[in-house]
Amino acid sequence: MVTSDVVVVGGGLLGVSAAYHLASAGASVLLLERDQLGLHASGQNAGSLHFQLEYRMFEHGTAQAEHNARALPLHVDAARAWGELEDRLGTSAGVARTGGLMLAETREQVRALELKAELETGYGLPVELLDGEALRTAAPYLSRRVIAAALCRAEGKADPRRVTHAYALAARRHGAVVRTGASVVGLRRRSGGWRISVADPAGGRPEEITAGQVLIAAGVWTGEVAQLADVRLPVVPVALTMSVTERARPIISHLVQHAGRRLSMKQTAEGNVLIGGGWPSRLIAHDGRVDLSASPRPRLDSIRGNAAAALVAPEVAPLRLLRVWTGTTSLLPDQMPLLGEIPRRPGLYAATGGSAFTLGPTYARLLARLMKGERPDLPVADYGPARFGHLTFA
Ligand SMILES: Cc1cc2nc3c(=O)[nH]c(=O)nc-3n(C[C@H](O)[C@H](O)[C@H](O)COP(=O)(O)OP(=O)(O)OC[C@H]3O[C@@H](n4cnc5c(N)ncnc54)[C@H](O)[C@@H]3O)c2cc1C
Repeated sequence: MVTSDVVVVGGGLLGVSAAYHLASAGASVLLLERDQLGLHASGQNAGSLHFQLEYRMFEHGTAQAEHNARALPLHVDAARAWGELEDRLGTSAGVARTGGLMLAETREQVRALELKAELETGYGLPVELLDGEALRTAAPYLSRRVIAAALCRAEGKADPRRVTHAYALAARRHGAVVRTGASVVGLRRRSGGWRISVADPAGGRPEEITAGQVLIAAGVWTGEVAQLADVRLPVVPVALTMSVTERARPIISHLVQHAGRRLSMKQTAEGNVLIGGGWPSRLIAHDGRVDLSASPRPRLDSIRGNAAAALVAPEVAPLRLLRVWTGTTSLLPDQMPLLGEIPRRPGLYAATGGSAFTLGPTYARLLARLMKGERPDLPVADYGPARFGHLTFA
């Protein structure tokens, strides 16, 4: 029987980056991915590195903003982590930190930016407020309707198609074993650890593996995998839309977000403009049951709404949309990350939720510390699965 110190379930960015940190600290690590590495949210996302509070984190007012601001120490750490990531992994991952602007077009949005910036600087994230005049110089491509913006110089983008694989290569260099086509179908406690069942693709008996610790990093499936160990975690699937335009001359030099509507926009090195920011698509259901593995169906109202939001940069207007795609990400009901050991299941850890592309390297580093029994160097109490302990009866 295969035995490992740690089994990681899930080969998205979170799983492979945790495998990297654990293996580089000397643990024997086996990562099991049902499909291919980075095939799901980690390969479908917008690649935005947004360290400012996102619109979804403050759109419901000050109390919500203050609540979500409690996770800002993770954002500050992630800004540092992305700055050194390519050196650490020894390869390019398309990281470009050209600064991020969050735009305001009304007085109310300016006020929201001011409150947001106050929270962010209070937690140590450098954010500057630019008035209209400063903005014309910093971002002449923006419409004159934009009257102010918050600038975070550490923000930017990375290439989702490269980051997960870069981490996987680095994890392998440290001895981690990464298996694809390996679907975890059973998780049972045994003395001193866990017994993990992996489906036989030929339909035979599952393969049995033992490990001292298990990390469930299964994205939107984290709740389903936790159920294999009789644990309830309220992981909410959120289906999203992305659009990409044809190539254009360099127009947009920042990551662009908006303080009053859903928008994330950036231009790739090749000239395509990527437009997203949280517009919904529709989850697919078969026989009345949602199928999280199926690509969500695009919604025309989302594509239109997202394209209209992008007109804050008027030169985007004549560009043709080349492609629209969808993907599903996970949120927890309180919009906080899920990170840590599951109560009454010693050695079983879970991690998902929120902007786990931007925050993935930080989640992974913290998880590795927790799993090695070290004190995390950032506060993590707000993110623990214990806050949902009341949903699991035994
Ligand atoms: C359209 C879109 C745009 C986004 N844009 C951004 C952005 O710009 N910035 C940002 O920070 N975040 C963004 N996100 C969110 C971000 O992509 C996710 O938070 C992040 O990629 C999650 O990574 P993950 O490793 O947790 O999950 P995933 O990448 O989904 O990986 C989980 C893996 O677990 C595997 N798995 C599931 N069940 C099993 C099982 N039983 N056995 C074995 N393996 C299993 C799956 O096959 C999957 O590969 C976006 C998400 C979407 C969908």
